[in-house]
Amino acid sequence: MTADSSPTTDDSSNNPPECPAGKIDCPIIAEIVALRQSVTELSELVRTDNLTGLANYRYFNQALGQEMERTQRSGQPTTLIMLDIDFFKKVNDQWGHEVGNQALVHIAKLMLQTVRRLDIACRYGGEEFAIILPNTELSASIPVAERLRSSIAETSLTVGEKQLQLTASLGIASYVLGEESRVEELVQRADHYLYQAKQSGRNQVRYAPLPEIDVVSREEREALFKLFGRSVKENQTEP
Ligand code: GH3
Ligand code: MG
Ligand code: MG
Repeated sequence: MTADSSPTTDDSSNNPPECPAGKIDCPIIAEIVALRQSVTELSELVRTDNLTGLANYRYFNQALGQEMERTQRSGQPTTLIMLDIDFFKKVNDQWGHEVGNQALVHIAKLMLQTVRRLDIACRYGGEEFAIILPNTELSASIPVAERLRSSIAETSLTVGEKQLQLTASLGIASYVLGEESRVEELVQRADHYLYQAKQSGRNQVRYAPLPEIDVVSREEREALFKLFGRSVKENQTEP
């Protein structure tokens, strides 16, 4: 499900149906329209998490697989953010399961407010959420995850006269052109960094080390070293 809408539907369902018998005054056209509407609603239900309205686990798996395939065709990376609420068991224990459910809806709303239009926000299961970021490099996803982390930490949920404060831990992994990993492996990788975020004290974002980009060419480096009177060989890192 994208951030600005319910799960996508087939565009052809927007066209008015034609009478199967080719009659201008079709006796069953109203029935066809109603059936079409039911199919659209049912397919949305199949993809949606009841409580939060986010995409559900089934849709998550399907969408992530599609985005990973797209990466292999287009060369654009797919990034996955996994999010787990911190100490959620305590929330249920202290506030009750119903407030726990309200907290899950609260997190879902913050997710939808934070992610971009084409990102896919999902409830992965229990108090764990996922965001699929199509055409997004790891480095570009970090500010998204940080924004979400801080908005969760800074936005309390009002329950009666009390304020419930939550935090969450997030892990990020990217899938790039030429990789052979499957959906489960990408999820495992993001989960690995989520676990690191928990281990480092929670309310944090963790991800794989970013690749170092050598923005200075060899010629530029040599010129710079000459300028500053130092030997290239002393400082050279390339073979
Ligand atoms: P951590 O910081 O390590 O993630 O601790 P935690 O307490 O969040 O983790 P743990 O996995 O021990 O607990 C998750 C809790 O989430 C336990 C379960 O009862 C609760 N939970 C899972 N699904 C739901 C739900 O749909 N509604 C409510 N209210 N609670 C849920
Ligand atoms: Mg959990
Ligand atoms: Mg948790």
